[in-house]
Amino acid sequence: MKVLVVNCGSSSLKYQLFDMTDESVLAKGLVERIGIEGSVLNHQPAGKGKIPITADIKNHTIAIKMVLDALVDPEHGVVADINEIDAIGHRVVHGAEKFSDSVLITPAVMAALEEFVELAPLHNPPNISGINACSEILPQVPQVGVFDTAFHQTMPQQAFLYGIPYEAYKQYGVRRYGFHGTSHKFVSQRAAEMIGDHMTNLRIITCHLGNGASISAVKNGKSLDTSMGFTPLQGLVMGTRCGDIDPAIPAYLMKKMNLSPDEIDNYLNKKSGVLGLSGLSSDFRDLEQAADQGNERAKLAIDVFTYTVRKYIGSYAAVMGGVDAIVFTAGLGENSARIRDHICNGLEFLGTRIDPVRNDVRGKEQEISVAGSKVRIFVIPTNEELMIARDTKKICAPLMK
Ligand code: ADP
Repeated sequence: MKVLVVNCGSSSLKYQLFDMTDESVLAKGLVERIGIEGSVLNHQPAGKGKIPITADIKNHTIAIKMVLDALVDPEHGVVADINEIDAIGHRVVHGAEKFSDSVLITPAVMAALEEFVELAPLHNPPNISGINACSEILPQVPQVGVFDTAFHQTMPQQAFLYGIPYEAYKQYGVRRYGFHGTSHKFVSQRAAEMIGDHMTNLRIITCHLGNGASISAVKNGKSLDTSMGFTPLQGLVMGTRCGDIDPAIPAYLMKKMNLSPDEIDNYLNKKSGVLGLSGLSSDFRDLEQAADQGNERAKLAIDVFTYTVRKYIGSYAAVMGGVDAIVFTAGLGENSARIRDHICNGLEFLGTRIDPVRNDVRGKEQEISVAGSKVRIFVIPTNEELMIARDTKKICAPLMK
């Protein structure tokens, strides 16, 4: 079974074509600058270099069409006929309370996604465009929606409700939803496999530390709590997002700086985080280098970030009544030994003992705690695309019989 995984952003489209007989990736690629001058598709067949294909890519339908053309291209294609694609899996950011698992896309599902645009105005519209584009070009191929929010739908009310009038939840859907769910699910399952125990026996804290960053408490295989909230702005200090702040700050700054609601939103989402703190960069590679050269604000930004992560780990150990494993994933979590070391430094009271030699690893699955550490620590590269392909296979395979 061949599954195409599609992840649409407002001006980008990432894809991977999987052969699910062995879960191998046949080709992957990225379309950038959709609807903007200078658009390009970088197509990469397995084992080969990137092939840039430039064209005027006005919308997601044209982008999908180009991807399909690239996949069947006589020279750098990987399938002989487009009909070899059996199913398509889409990353969808917001499934609200309606979707606690992946679903087959139907008109009713599309109507629900339209309804959730209000909750995710930046993310759901491009996801919808991607699904519509595929329906238009490959109407006979089943499609599946895999939601970033779905894994966190197991959170109990005490974890997802905010201390504001209950009516705001009932009338407007204001509650914690959480994001990066596909990643938290993937790495927690993988950690259980590496430990050699069943998920239902374990308390795992998963740290997805990329440009966007979130932490989850996964108890007995279920998300019990997670740091992102109503939107991805809450929780950890991130690359450019502020994370947890006093809720009175936006109104105060709006008055002081004469900002509109959209402007304060932009300020907290795009100009804050370690970028805002350091005044230098949102990229931890730049910050680590600058800190080494004595830049105090870069050092401060790293300290604030690692302090927040440590604080969340402590609180999630508390709500789970202990912790068996901590997992680091995503760009920063997978690659920066220094950040992992900073975070774990001071957590020894929980029973964590990081091994500096094992921790010297980049982008590779590895246990980084010392042998016999009560709490085991892992680096596990996330693979949201594979998770989407697996769910798509699970839902679509019975339809093909
Ligand atoms: P996104 O949320 O955009 O998917 P990623 O998971 O790709 O983000 O993570 C990107 C971030 O990972 C970069 O901004 C950078 O801070 C960090 N990163 C990647 N590689 C390294 C590295 N070798 N050392 C330190 N930080 C890294």
